[in-house]
Amino acid sequence: MKIVRSPEAMTAWSDQLRREGVTIGFVPTMGALHDGHRTLIRAARLKCDALVVSIFVNPTQFGPKEDLAKYPRPIAKDRALCRAEGVDVCFEPTAKAMYPDGFQTTVSLPSLARRWEGEARPHHFSGVATVVTKLFGIVRPCLALFGQKDFQQAALIQQLVKDLNLGVKIVIRPTVRDPDGLAMSSRNVYLSPHERAVATTLYKSLQAGADAIRQGVADGQAIHTVMTRIVQKEPAMTIDYLAVCDPRTLELLSSVTSRAVLLAAVRLGAVRLIDNLVVAVPAKRA
Ligand code: AMP
Repeated sequence: MKIVRSPEAMTAWSDQLRREGVTIGFVPTMGALHDGHRTLIRAARLKCDALVVSIFVNPTQFGPKEDLAKYPRPIAKDRALCRAEGVDVCFEPTAKAMYPDGFQTTVSLPSLARRWEGEARPHHFSGVATVVTKLFGIVRPCLALFGQKDFQQAALIQQLVKDLNLGVKIVIRPTVRDPDGLAMSSRNVYLSPHERAVATTLYKSLQAGADAIRQGVADGQAIHTVMTRIVQKEPAMTIDYLAVCDPRTLELLSSVTSRAVLLAAVRLGAVRLIDNLVVAVPAKRA
């Protein structure tokens, strides 16, 4: 496995392979890799001839009070995982190489980024959209894989690729969970043993919302109440948002008639957990 740090060297490698007709798959990450990342890497490996994983803790998607400095960076372990999964290139640019003096362009999606994570983290999505656009320009993949775990981010990237004709096929893979249902996340390492034990409440609340929909509850507010009651029973957790939304627009649904995404963000100690479930109304009611 090659470790490439310079954007120019990365592009030169990709250009050469593309000239030879090789298909390039790409999994962008911030490192601290876990089984969620591993499933994206494995899926990409099966779909493409060559595979690039980027490890870049992108400073522009962190707010001033967020955890940029202490974000976990176990680079040796990350490289070992990539090597074991047959990654061809681990692209590890520096912040200076990505944002040299004079850098000024940003990409933003005002409508999709407005609510939910965008409200809690005002500059987050323009940081994400800009870095993904840059990474696509540098790596020039045919295909890129993202996780449903970050539902709003996935929606935004699909829109970005369409709006800017980036020519990269986007694949979204299901959320990988610990056995008790907690969605895997690089930030779960910050949870104390007690917090880790109660963290599963978030998934339970999403499941209860999904069950309500499957059992015939259509009223968005009623579904929201079902989810809220479960989280409120856990004193260590505070709700940032729980929402019953249209999976395409991410706007609130007053009534669930076909499909919904249940979006959730809570705070637990120093950690902010996000999760979601997509639910379809059973066929006989749709
Ligand atoms: P990150 O390193 O957190 O920026 O995540 C890199 C990619 O991995 C993103 O596309 C995430 O949505 C995806 N990802 C993170 N956690 C999970 C998970 N538990 N299951 C599936 N994909 C995930």
